[in-house]
Amino acid sequence: MKRRDFLKNSLVFISGAGVSMSALEWLDPKAVLASRPEVRWAFLVDTHKCVGCGFCVKACKIENDIPLQANVTRTWVERYVIKKDGDVVMDSPKGALNGFTSNKIDQNKSGMLEVADEEIAQAFFVPKLCNQCENPPCVQVCPVGATYQAADGVVLVDRKWCIGCGYCIMGCPYGVRFFHPKEKVAEKCNFCYHRITQGKKTACVQACPFSARKIGNLRDPKDPVAQVILNQRVGVLRDEYGTKPHVFYIGLNKEVR
Ligand code: SF4
Ligand code: SF4
Repeated sequence: MKRRDFLKNSLVFISGAGVSMSALEWLDPKAVLASRPEVRWAFLVDTHKCVGCGFCVKACKIENDIPLQANVTRTWVERYVIKKDGDVVMDSPKGALNGFTSNKIDQNKSGMLEVADEEIAQAFFVPKLCNQCENPPCVQVCPVGATYQAADGVVLVDRKWCIGCGYCIMGCPYGVRFFHPKEKVAEKCNFCYHRITQGKKTACVQACPFSARKIGNLRDPKDPVAQVILNQRVGVLRDEYGTKPHVFYIGLNKEVR
């Protein structure tokens, strides 16, 4: 996110909070965000609802200016097939940009694998994105402070400060970071920060026809997403890493990596 966009977003915060516009001259955007601890963004994925159409992936790429054919994406969808013999096969062709158009599982160099219907115990789709971790290793390893966490929990990348060393890409245990193919700086999902700070949904949430993706404010007890996360059985990816992910899943199978 460019600093000027960040300032623009902060301006929305400031005007919403009733702070004088002249204060913009000396207010640090991070300080403005820190003054709003009542917001903690969290994401909810319902794997029971996802059909693997990939509309979310395409919408994200268009919204965030990631070239459609580039082999990188801020969000993607994985397909898991669990066989009756216990074998697990998974694929995500082009991140599911065009959905899953074949019953065969793309095994990259090993070719396409056909699994007979009678062999399948379970099959499902799992959307993935940056977990906006509460303890984000990507922030800890950035040597110049270009990756930082806002007070509302979202981990952001300041493109002006990023030197492209790639430490954060190596440091993220979820593999969600990559180099932006055009900007040549570290890139990842930021919950469409430019949208959520203006009261809009993320592009992927808006695009999902089945409401498999939702975003909400964990600190608002009336928020429907917060109510599910706080009161229902939800899971996170790789809880054992201690990063405290804030992307929560309904129906997360233990085989999901
Ligand atoms: S998922 Fe990776 S990139 Fe996102 S906050 Fe966690 S460590 Fe950082
Ligand atoms: S748009 Fe919704 S249903 Fe389609 S792949 Fe994405 S999360 Fe799944």
